[in-house]
Amino acid sequence: MKKLIFLLFTVSVSSYAQHKNPNPGYWQQHVDYKMDVTMDVEKFQYSGTQELVYTNNSNDTLKKVFYHLYFNAFKPGSEMDARLTSISDPDKRMVKSFKGADGIEKKQSKIAELKPTEIGFLNVVDLKQDGVALKNKVVGTILEVELAKPLLPKAKTTFTMKFNGQVPVMVRRAGRNSEEGVALSMTQWYPKMAEFDFEGWHADPYIGREFHGVWGNFDVKLTLDKNYTVGATGYLQNKNEIGHGYQDAGVNVSIPKKQKTLTWHFVAPNVHDFAWGADPNFIHDKVLGANNVELHFFYKNDSSIIENWKKLQPETVKLLDFFNKNIGNYPYKQYSVIQGGDGGMEYAMCTLITGKRSLPSLIGVTAHEMAHMWFQHLLATNESKHEWMDEGFTSFISDFAVNQIMDKKNQEDENPFQSAYGNYYYMVKKNGQQPLSTHADRYSDNMNYGISAYSKGSVFITQLAYVIGWDKTLETLKRFYHDFSFSHPTPNDFKRTAERVSGAVLDWYLVDWTQTTNTIDYGVKKVEVNQNKVNVTLERIGQMPMPLDVLVIYEDESSETFYIPNTLMRYTKANPYPNISRTVLNGWDWAYETYNFKFDTKGKKIKTLVIDPTQLMADVNKANNSKDF
Ligand SMILES: [Zn+2]
Repeated sequence: MKKLIFLLFTVSVSSYAQHKNPNPGYWQQHVDYKMDVTMDVEKFQYSGTQELVYTNNSNDTLKKVFYHLYFNAFKPGSEMDARLTSISDPDKRMVKSFKGADGIEKKQSKIAELKPTEIGFLNVVDLKQDGVALKNKVVGTILEVELAKPLLPKAKTTFTMKFNGQVPVMVRRAGRNSEEGVALSMTQWYPKMAEFDFEGWHADPYIGREFHGVWGNFDVKLTLDKNYTVGATGYLQNKNEIGHGYQDAGVNVSIPKKQKTLTWHFVAPNVHDFAWGADPNFIHDKVLGANNVELHFFYKNDSSIIENWKKLQPETVKLLDFFNKNIGNYPYKQYSVIQGGDGGMEYAMCTLITGKRSLPSLIGVTAHEMAHMWFQHLLATNESKHEWMDEGFTSFISDFAVNQIMDKKNQEDENPFQSAYGNYYYMVKKNGQQPLSTHADRYSDNMNYGISAYSKGSVFITQLAYVIGWDKTLETLKRFYHDFSFSHPTPNDFKRTAERVSGAVLDWYLVDWTQTTNTIDYGVKKVEVNQNKVNVTLERIGQMPMPLDVLVIYEDESSETFYIPNTLMRYTKANPYPNISRTVLNGWDWAYETYNFKFDTKGKKIKTLVIDPTQLMADVNKANNSKDF
């Protein structure tokens, strides 16, 4: 009987832990963490143990592994510090501005100024592999580890260590005493195994942004001052001993006066990170969302924010519902919105956001970070390499969600995607574009990174809706989630999904939009009207190909459209204007710079001819897109 139960248990665990990535030969590593950590809330120092059972799912024999030690970034002289000095537009949160002797405004890195008691650090001691001590070397935020015994394909090994760290003064994302007074924003705080996957090692130093992790299970015990309320990744195992708003209804939790600390035990299955936030003055609310998912809210007991945080809760229920319906069901049973950090940042089963915001801003940031549960966490693209997929897709779906769920009085005509196009055109005009395939740390400046990842990445989706239609695009998002969740999908996986859903060939779209700085510019070159006969010549000025919708409006307000397929697609999209009659013309082969077509007005007078009236196609020069008569 025991054996049978054991069998059932392993079957259910392994089926839950399995990714569905359909690519032949795809693999990713697997981790099982056990951590036991004690936090000194006075000194902002912590220490603990970590046991990591590491499974090598690759076909390689590993002789080395790498850990991230993110908190080492918050030391004077770190790479993150150096980058703050070299970049032309450093993140405002990370620098102090002052006027120099010459009267010119200068910026000073906040990391450079940190005193020894204020820096962040993460030290690993007594690192062993299956009980054997390991040679290791700290290189900035990366720990390079030589294995004592090579790890064979499909084999497991157990790493054990002691570690200690100091929570830095808040400079970026994590730290102590945030600007809004949250004591502990604990993100990227523990020695974290770097991911080795089908693309190889991803031991990127922490310079500024973006994370990539190994899928697995976390079992974390946190011991700290009993007055602190903790919000975290994972499910609290001892909620009826802890209380703090976690306890079941009717349970009365009493902690002996003599007892100074509480040990919180969290378990998070099938995630690739573990984050937490804690404060002695948190309000903790719980509401139930779709599929009985518990939504937890942790925010300061500050009368200026309480009303907005209460109003946020039913909106978060709507957001969860929207993402479930438009991407796919949230697979965990809990999600936490925790006040903390320095803006908004996504983590496993939770987010840390700043909380002193107007209600629309509070809903907006929650929508964005929550959407990252799908586009970053569950669809765990490598954010360093494909930052436009997590930030762009998240921006798209959260803008869409907010537009749908918010009270739409007075904003009926608002296009929630307009600002993404505007930002992209601004970047093109400044001639500052770099391909979206640029590593997140290697953009020339923050503006370029931001517009590329968030705006151009979001336009990738809305413009795809122009290319294959809204229905097929929204279906692609769902299929992508269905096929690739719990794995590390790539840009090509998304493109293939769109191809599978639509039947169109889309290689040109992915390549031109994400791997080049090619732009789109089509124009109306010439229109000759001879009684009822119209002869239109269009030109392609930009390098990037596109299919074209051309709308003709007549003086009597009737209209018709012409569709010019992009022959590279081998595809005709559904009529985007079902109420307007459409003529599908011959395809336009890219190399031809002009395209000619004729039509008969049947006695009507043309008022306007316009290319892509939806403006979902990111044509960089709209001035030549139409002709009035
Ligand atoms: Zn984001």
